[in-house]
Amino acid sequence: MKNLVIANWKMNPQTLKEAKQLFSSVKKRIKNIKDIEVVICPPFVYLPILGASAFAKGYGGLAFGSQDCFWEEKGAFTGEISPKMLKNLGCQYVIIGHSERRKLGETDETINKKIKAVITAKLKPILCIGETEKERKAGKTFKVLKTQIKKNLNNLTIKQFNNLILAYEPVWAIGTGNPCSSKEAKKVFLFLQKLFGKVPVLYGGSVNSENARDYIEKAKFQGLLVGGASLNTKEFIEIVRIVSKH
Ligand code: PEP
Repeated sequence: MKNLVIANWKMNPQTLKEAKQLFSSVKKRIKNIKDIEVVICPPFVYLPILGASAFAKGYGGLAFGSQDCFWEEKGAFTGEISPKMLKNLGCQYVIIGHSERRKLGETDETINKKIKAVITAKLKPILCIGETEKERKAGKTFKVLKTQIKKNLNNLTIKQFNNLILAYEPVWAIGTGNPCSSKEAKKVFLFLQKLFGKVPVLYGGSVNSENARDYIEKAKFQGLLVGGASLNTKEFIEIVRIVSKH
């Protein structure tokens, strides 16, 4: 499997015009970078527009993902978006359990339902797990990760694991400019690899073009989940280039 770089645009940019500009500048510069899967996860509202333009003008090596979804297929669930709708728009990936969603009330149980629904819709879930600053300081990192894994992946079949992607995202490193060192992250990578074997494991948390190489070369992650830096084309393309060389 190719290394992955996931761009989580979060709730950005503020206008469709800016979203189109960001997308087309990334698309243009990514064309000549080979042997990598780059996934753009914009806010829901931009997905069909950017997706349509990507397909119309040649796919250009980019895939689409969403930042969340609901677990039911259809019906009376005001404000929600189903995996089937995302699949229909050309999405291939869905981020599930991002710490910013957990902070807003997402539970391990709803994450579990979403993971199953995403796999049923033949999309690939990117499950985000990670400890808070307080948990890390108390030496509970591995205990927290184990609990999240157990609850979030409860009752999944071996076959369903084939489509899963894990992202280790220490909460204290997300959007803080305080990345986890590659040495510390490597310990988590080895722990997850031992548990999951072939499931790709990504790192996320204040990734930039300065630190990206270490997560891939030293810690051996199979890709990166990039938030803030994915909104800056130059920085993002540099990260993609670094990851593609491995
Ligand atoms: C993220 O959104 O998952 C993330 C890692 O953000 P940032 O790169 O800004 O820390």
